[in-house]
Amino acid sequence: MTSLETLAADLRTALGPGRVITDRQELRTYECDGLAHYKVTPGLVVLPRDTVECARTVRACVAENVPFVARGSGTGLSGGALPHADGVLIVTAKMRDILEMAPDDERAVVQPGVINLDVSRAAAAPGYYYAPDPSSQQICSIGGNVAENSGGAHCLKYGFTTNHVLGVQVVTPDGDVIELGGRAPDTPGYDLLGAFVGAEGTLGIATRVTVKLTRLPEAVRTLLAAFGSPAAAGAATSAIIAAGVVPAAIEMMDALAIEAAEAAVRCGYPPGAGAVLIVELDGPAAEVDAQFAEVTALCESNGATALRIAADAAERALIWKGRKSAFAAVGRISPDYIVQDGVIPRTALPEVLSRIAETAGSHGVRVANVFHAGDGNLHPLVLFDGTAEGEADRAETVSGAIIDLCIEYGGSITGEHGVGADKAKYMPRMYSADDLTTMQLLRCAFDPAGLANPGKVFPTPRLCGEVPRVHRATDPAPAADLF
Ligand SMILES: Cc1cc2nc3c(=O)[nH]c(=O)nc-3n(C[C@H](O)[C@H](O)[C@H](O)COP(=O)(O)OP(=O)(O)OC[C@H]3O[C@@H](n4cnc5c(N)ncnc54)[C@H](O)[C@@H]3O)c2cc1C
Repeated sequence: MTSLETLAADLRTALGPGRVITDRQELRTYECDGLAHYKVTPGLVVLPRDTVECARTVRACVAENVPFVARGSGTGLSGGALPHADGVLIVTAKMRDILEMAPDDERAVVQPGVINLDVSRAAAAPGYYYAPDPSSQQICSIGGNVAENSGGAHCLKYGFTTNHVLGVQVVTPDGDVIELGGRAPDTPGYDLLGAFVGAEGTLGIATRVTVKLTRLPEAVRTLLAAFGSPAAAGAATSAIIAAGVVPAAIEMMDALAIEAAEAAVRCGYPPGAGAVLIVELDGPAAEVDAQFAEVTALCESNGATALRIAADAAERALIWKGRKSAFAAVGRISPDYIVQDGVIPRTALPEVLSRIAETAGSHGVRVANVFHAGDGNLHPLVLFDGTAEGEADRAETVSGAIIDLCIEYGGSITGEHGVGADKAKYMPRMYSADDLTTMQLLRCAFDPAGLANPGKVFPTPRLCGEVPRVHRATDPAPAADLF
């Protein structure tokens, strides 16, 4: 029997029926995450129900020296949950229990497969919600959010996932169960919880997560401001932050993104706008009213051509509908597109946006921009037609050039979508070889055998277990060649 056959037989006995998938067609449903151009059919899929079963699965992998990859909802956009052809995909879809809801302690304890929005829904009655709100929040899992340190529109004011996770129970890469952090903030000693959040499943599998709950704000006010160009909208963004106002969210969409959103969801944004800003303020009503007047004035003094203030929850939802549907909506104006994710200092927005437009123009490629302007987190959508000769290559070149721009302006190769399989190749553009080696030493401390999500995040695996051997055949570069 092969290692995978041994594993499958062992886990079928241990976990019971319907929890181990070996059928080729069923396995294919797990072949990619949200970055669908990387595809690898996993060797085996296992669906544990709890920590004990997850640890049992990992120990079985260790015994057979088989790599494993955790998967939540598979919405990741960097190929982080890309499986290994001769490895095990451990899917948390059956770990969806909210274990504890303690609004008085502003805390909830959940299994990793719980959907992000379900935490807010469960906390709403006592007046709380879970603040990090990726646009995918209706489907992405808390475990995936932890692994990616996910952000969202309202992370400008409230911070990313890392600011809302108090503790994590982890199945380590050798199958032990440990607790990182706790039920209260700031445990003493090394911040291993901080290291785990954002580690993209390379340091183990989160099987229980303690998250902070945030009080629902007394007031929320939302404004849609139209501008002649993204540069003008970028200048207004900088002016708002420079004035000391921290909105809950400042989101920007350019003309192409607006066109796509209109086609998809008829959000009714002002016609002819070169860009729109969605600015949302929340908090105590008196503070929100005062700051809202200031924001409105700053938009006007920075050239806003139209202002629309949401009068009620329905109008607010319509303004957000355009933004939240924007990624998918781009399919209306282009058969294919790359969702890029990078960060720049906010003040560089006007300059970088015009350089992106120049680069795109010189390669004959269109780029739609829809992004978290308040924290400089760009999401350029590079449009192309995969059936047209050379277009995919040109789009890839522009996409890479955008990352170079982010680095040139002192930013980062990813804001919130992670490195995964897709961006490992860019890590040496941002970090020296010594930096990368140091980071991998941490990984080795957790995973000396190199079995947890190998081939992700780092471009040149060469420490501890990360040496070429059988399972390396499915590492990102060869995987990318498969399609
Ligand atoms: C339309 C759309 C909009 C999006 N908008 C945003 C956005 O606004 N902000 C944002 O940050 N992201 C966004 N994303 C990206 C994605 O939704 C997030 O990265 C999300 O956190 C992934 O969650 P998931 O459950 O789908 O994880 P998966 O895709 O299944 O996995 C992602 C990574 O997490 C690891 N992982 C999963 N579960 C665990 C676990 N229990 N323990 C350890 N590691 C684990 C995987 O190995 C993988 O490396 C968007 C994606 C889409 C498709």
